[in-house]
Amino acid sequence: MAGTGTLASLNARIVACELCPRLRTHCTEVARLRRRAYADWEYWDRPVPSFGDAKARVLALGLAPGAHGSNRTGRMFTGDGSGDFLYPVLHAAGFASQPTATSRDDGMKLNGLRISAVVHCAPPGNKPTPEELRNCSRWLDEEMRLLTGLRVVVCLGRIAFDGLLAHAVRTGKLTTRAGFVFAHGAEYELPGGLIAIASYHPSLQNTNTGKLTRAMLLKVFQRARQLAQGPPAEPAEQKRAAPMPKHSRNSHGNR
Ligand code: SF4
Repeated sequence: MAGTGTLASLNARIVACELCPRLRTHCTEVARLRRRAYADWEYWDRPVPSFGDAKARVLALGLAPGAHGSNRTGRMFTGDGSGDFLYPVLHAAGFASQPTATSRDDGMKLNGLRISAVVHCAPPGNKPTPEELRNCSRWLDEEMRLLTGLRVVVCLGRIAFDGLLAHAVRTGKLTTRAGFVFAHGAEYELPGGLIAIASYHPSLQNTNTGKLTRAMLLKVFQRARQLAQGPPAEPAEQKRAAPMPKHSRNSHGNR
């Protein structure tokens, strides 16, 4: 059970977490074998902590660390193709201090944005099990409670979108996930004022095929910045009756 504390102590507990033996074993095996291109790297090989601004009004929520990306570098979306696509967009949208992310020591600073994931350990085939998703949900719940200025969550991929909705149900913001449909650019305002924006994940599978272009992702983060000007959402601590969701407010449409 996650306790109270600061984002720094939360990250320390995430890094020390051993709740998912399959994932911990997989990460260690990846780190042992390495990829030839990273033969001189000492892989991080721990759960990857969240990264960015403690006063963030926008949270970018991903799926999980990449085996040779974050599991190697120890920082979210750093050191693989997904990050190489994401960080230039965050820089262009004014959230990141530089467009390139190569290591934990590259000087990157995020402003107004925090990056996390629904699973903090790299899963085989990028597919966490339902139990692993449940295990890791405690960290998302705590992070959302600690981010008191949060206004917008950009869900990078369907699993992150589902993870946010599950969080909203667990914390009493929603009574049902019915009616929430994942589509790139779709926006939903949750009871309490938090706005969810769905986006395709910047995986190579999506970016190499043109399913997700730089312009599409930039539009999502520019929209997030615009929406983040509003008042912070209510904290998720109090369970209460939830009204029906307001669907696809100013939706960008399905693409
Ligand atoms: S995936 Fe999450 S819950 Fe599972 S071991 Fe990693 S940090 Fe812990």
